[in-house]
Amino acid sequence: MDADVLIIGAGCAGLSLAVHLLDAGASDLEIVLLDRRDTHARDRTWCYWSGLEHPFEGAVSHSWHRWKVITSAGEVERGSRSVAYRCIPADAFYDLALERLERSPNVRLVREASVEGFRDTDSGVAAVTDDGEFEARRAFDSRPPIPGPVPAGEIHWLQHFVGLEIEADRPVFDPSVATLMDFRVMEGPDIRFMYVLPLDERTALVEDTFFGGAPRPESEYLESIAGYLEERLGIGSWSERHRERGAIPMSTVPPPVSASPRVTNIGVRAGLARPATGYAFLAIQRHSRRLAVYTVRAGVDRPMPRGRPYPRATAFLDRVFLSYLERRPQRAPEMFRDMFERVAPEPMARFLFDGGTPSDKVAVMRSLPASPLVGQALRDLGPALRDTLRRT
Ligand SMILES: Cc1cc2nc3c(=O)[nH]c(=O)nc-3n(C[C@H](O)[C@H](O)[C@H](O)COP(=O)(O)OP(=O)(O)OC[C@H]3O[C@@H](n4cnc5c(N)ncnc54)[C@H](O)[C@@H]3O)c2cc1C
Repeated sequence: MDADVLIIGAGCAGLSLAVHLLDAGASDLEIVLLDRRDTHARDRTWCYWSGLEHPFEGAVSHSWHRWKVITSAGEVERGSRSVAYRCIPADAFYDLALERLERSPNVRLVREASVEGFRDTDSGVAAVTDDGEFEARRAFDSRPPIPGPVPAGEIHWLQHFVGLEIEADRPVFDPSVATLMDFRVMEGPDIRFMYVLPLDERTALVEDTFFGGAPRPESEYLESIAGYLEERLGIGSWSERHRERGAIPMSTVPPPVSASPRVTNIGVRAGLARPATGYAFLAIQRHSRRLAVYTVRAGVDRPMPRGRPYPRATAFLDRVFLSYLERRPQRAPEMFRDMFERVAPEPMARFLFDGGTPSDKVAVMRSLPASPLVGQALRDLGPALRDTLRRT
C-alpha cells in the first residue's frame, strides 16, 4: 500500500482537497498526489464572488467592490461594501498550496505521473499510471472529464476564451471597477463578450469570451482583443505580460460516475463547474472541505457521501437559463444587463455562487423577461424530472 489517500491531479481541486485534509487534522493519513504535469506555473486566474472563507485567502491579488456590464444600449454599474469580486492568479494559489504540502511530512506529490485508470484491489484501489501502479485505501479523481455524446434534451456548451494580461503605455484603466461583460463585441449569432479586470491604471486582464460553439484558433481571440483595446479603450500601444486559455463546461449533462466505489470524483470531474456560469472555484472549496471533514471523522474506508454538485432548484434554473439562451442568444446582453441592474449585489453574488436562497432566486427570476422564461421553464420540466429520477 503506497498511501491511505491518493489524489489524482494536483490542480485546483486536488491541491484544495489536500490542504483541506491537513486543515481538518489528517496528520496521520499518508496522502499521495499524482499529476501528469512537471511544474506548476500560472496557467489561469480564478475569480469568484466573496461569501465563503477558504484557506487560499492569502493568494487573493485583487478585489473589486464595483463592477459593470456594458451593452450597445448602455452600461450598468453596481457595487457593494460587503460583496467583492476577487481574483487569485494560479501561481499564487499553487505556491501557497505546495508550500503547505512541503511542510507536511505525511504528504507527497509525484509529478509526471499520468493516470490511465483504476483497478480495485483486495484492500483498496490502485491508480494505473504509465510508470506502474499506486495503491491506496481511497482515491479522489480530478482528471478532466472526457465529453461523450450529448444525450437528447441536454445542453453541453463550452465557455471558451483567451485572456491576456496587458500593460498599456499610459494610465487608462479605473482599477476600482471590473467589467464583467462588455457585449459590444457581439456581432454574429454567438454569445460573446469582453471581460476586463483592471489590476492598476495601466494593467488589466482582458479576455475574449464565448458561451457556446467550438473553441476558435487562438489568433481569432488575439485579434479581437487587440481590436477591442484600440477601438473601445483607445489603447494603441501595449505589451503582453501573461496569456491564458480555457474551455470550461457549461453543461446539464450529468458528470461521469466514479471509476469504483473507492474512488470519488472531485473538481470539474464532479460537475462543479456551474452550468449557467462555468464558475467552479468556490464550489471546489466547499466540496473539498466537506470531503476532508468526512474523511477525517469517518475514516478512509467508509463510503464517501454522495451529493449533487449544486442544489436541485439551482440546477433547474441553470437548465432554464441555458435553454433560453440557446434559443435566443441575441437576448443575452439585455438579459445580463437587466439582471445586474435590477437585482441587488448581495443576492446577485449569492445567486452566482450556488443559486443563493429561495428569495435570491425569486429576485433574479423577477428581473428577467417573464413570459419567455416561464415558457422555457415549462419546456424544461421534463428533462429536469428525468435528471432528478436518474440521480435519486
Ligand atoms: C483558464 C481558466 C480560467 C478559469 N477561470 C475561472 C474563474 O475565474 N473562476 C472559476 O470559478 N472557475 C474558473 N475556471 C474553471 C475552474 O475553476 C478551473 O478549471 C479549475 O482549475 C478546475 O479545477 P480542477 O481541479 O477540476 O481541474 P484542474 O485545475 O485543471 O486540475 C486537474 C489536474 O489534473 C491533472 N491531470 C489531468 N489528467 C491527468 C492524468 N491523466 N493523470 C494525472 N494527472 C492528470 C492536470 O495536470 C491538472 O493539474 C477556469 C478554468 C480555466 C481553464
